[in-house]
Amino acid sequence: MQLSFYGAAREVTGSCHCVEVNGSRTLLDCGMQQGADNGFGQSFPFHPGEIDRVVVTHAHIDHTGRLPLLVKQGFKGSIYATEPTCQLLQIMLRDSAHIQELEAGWHARKQKRAGEDTLQPLYSMEDAERVFPMLVPCRYNETIDIGQGISIRFVDAGHLLGSAYVEMWLDEGGNKKKVVFSGDIGAPGHPMICDPGQLSEADIVVMESTYGDRSRSPSFDTVKELAKVIEETLSKGGNVICPSFAIGRTQDLLYYIREIKERRLVGSIPDFPVYLDSPLASAATKVYSGDLLPYLDEEAEALINAGIQPLSFDGLHFIETAEESKILNDDRTPKIIISSSGMCDAGRIRHHLKHNLWRQECAVVFTGFQALGTLGRTLVDGLTPSVSLFGEDIAIRCKIHNFRSMSSHADREALLGWIGAFDPLPETVFIVHGEHQVCKAFTARLVGEGFRAVAPKYSSIHDLLTGETIYEGRDILRRDEMEQPAQRESAVYQRLMLAGTRLIEVITRNRGGTNKDLAKFAEQINALAGKWNR
Ligand SMILES: [Zn+2]
Repeated sequence: MQLSFYGAAREVTGSCHCVEVNGSRTLLDCGMQQGADNGFGQSFPFHPGEIDRVVVTHAHIDHTGRLPLLVKQGFKGSIYATEPTCQLLQIMLRDSAHIQELEAGWHARKQKRAGEDTLQPLYSMEDAERVFPMLVPCRYNETIDIGQGISIRFVDAGHLLGSAYVEMWLDEGGNKKKVVFSGDIGAPGHPMICDPGQLSEADIVVMESTYGDRSRSPSFDTVKELAKVIEETLSKGGNVICPSFAIGRTQDLLYYIREIKERRLVGSIPDFPVYLDSPLASAATKVYSGDLLPYLDEEAEALINAGIQPLSFDGLHFIETAEESKILNDDRTPKIIISSSGMCDAGRIRHHLKHNLWRQECAVVFTGFQALGTLGRTLVDGLTPSVSLFGEDIAIRCKIHNFRSMSSHADREALLGWIGAFDPLPETVFIVHGEHQVCKAFTARLVGEGFRAVAPKYSSIHDLLTGETIYEGRDILRRDEMEQPAQRESAVYQRLMLAGTRLIEVITRNRGGTNKDLAKFAEQINALAGKWNR
């Protein structure tokens, strides 16, 4: 009975953990790496054909973005997720495939001109669509037998529509363990979705630590502050640009703007126009407006029952085509533009930033976490006078606001409260999904409070029955966290490193094998190492 960490280990994105029990392998999330390159790219250190099933905590791309790659490379099992997650995934993964194809096409043209071999997209639309028939929609709070001694239950995590903690019960020859995976833990008081639930029993907990170093101001009135920024900006003739995650933050923004308009909190232009410039966000908004009443909170339910659409108001325009999007840049009417991606590392938002960052009268409003290495993080940190966009140097003269209160992640106090509710204390708490320093500090805090807390390294392997670490894994720092940036490793070298990781994994799975087999295996590895040791 083993647990290994293949992503979000001492970093914020790319969630991917693996449970091995009764000879079967189950992945918990299969997320995409975002932001700075950690030198391992998006490849898996295992063969996807050896994975039996995947359980998904929620639809965000850093928890699901590599599912099409997994399928492309040979995965054939089932993918368990809540009903709303299954619906949102179909939009998310199609969009992700579209971006992969676009970017690969752009790189291919560049490489062709340079006379180099062209790279293929990470995965295609066809690969993404092959994921959908594998999805098994599940309900909250129902125990589901997923085979080979494993049962799971999804519990509302209050982070995103359909987001869940996963409780997992393992039984291997009568040896039983319960593992809880937190996924992303939500913050209370979010529009539309219910407040995060609480669990209290587990032998092992794997928990996130995104905001393990930050506290949120409880007195911040999001609606009032947002109205103030809109009033100040629009009355000067500027635009409010909102880089937003297409799923989650966008719908929160629409919910708040509807309230601002309803309460007429922007006196100078009460009927200001709002453009949702993200086909993905528009599609996701339709999911939120669909038949999902059982998943919404009481407030949203009351609005719907009163005939009010929580995400709809006068002056809301959905932008579909790139041409329509470009026209917005020439239109001088003060307006709000909501566009993705939320961390500004791709998508149409980059065009809007190019046309508005240099204008003093404009404002950019961030509403979510900005990972290291992304353009969003650069703008929030405010340490540089200009940024490069589409080969042009763009001065940063507009106001930059960071609405941390809108983040859907629990802050440090909420994280401590969440883990503190487990009684008795879990045997081990693995801390994942936090930037390197944050992860380390939060782990130390839990150790100080009496927990056996571990920040697992990338590809580390842990025995769940004995509690021992079978393989330490590697501490992989991202380029921007290294004191002396290393030279970029070639793709082929990365492949070799992954092959090495896989070899370690195969070795651990041979533990307990016959002396004869183990000796032969060791001999073969030594011969191979001897051959290449030069
Ligand atoms: Zn998330």
